[in-house]
Amino acid sequence: MAEIHIIQNGYSTVDNGVMKANATCSVVVTPANTIIIDTLSPWDSEVIKKKLQELHIDKVDYVLSTHGHPDHTGNNHLFLNSKHIVGYSVFEKDSYLLHPFEKGVEFIIDDWTKVIPTPGHTSEDVTLLINTKENKIVAATGDLFEREEDVIEDPSLWMDSSYDARLQAENRLKVLSISDVVIPGHGPMFPVSNSHRQAAQVFYENL
Ligand SMILES: [Zn+2]
Repeated sequence: MAEIHIIQNGYSTVDNGVMKANATCSVVVTPANTIIIDTLSPWDSEVIKKKLQELHIDKVDYVLSTHGHPDHTGNNHLFLNSKHIVGYSVFEKDSYLLHPFEKGVEFIIDDWTKVIPTPGHTSEDVTLLINTKENKIVAATGDLFEREEDVIEDPSLWMDSSYDARLQAENRLKVLSISDVVIPGHGPMFPVSNSHRQAAQVFYENL
């Protein structure tokens, strides 16, 4: 069964026209694969190396960037023996697997993890669905969710950086309906409640 470790919780603030942000980076260990999700910015190499060492992880099978923004891809180069998934691109060196995410087709990594297309923040976002040893479904969503507060308290947190708000609202609702826990793009993981699902439903219907 899969285990999840958080390498760093993300954040984002805006002050005087400058946004300060970094992503939430996590690592998933299944009986078959180790998958690192959203590798922060190029200045964070030591944070990632140190944490992987503490976790005794010396082999990473997949690098998954939920989308192509710099704080989600910055250290992908540390993992040159891994398969890389960046948004809809599944590749290793110069070989790209022609996987039809754009038709909604999921990409199954192993018995515990699969990648589904969840565009909206950009045109090519993906979410990793993880079946944990507690038999919960955890969704590592990248910026489909900025952080927990963007569901009920302040939807502007996700809408302000949305490429297609209607598409994103639809995929947010979909992910909330199939998962027990969300790891958002820029905050700590949070358990999904029915209030979250209802708020996302009402929001989508009124958009
Ligand atoms: Zn982003």
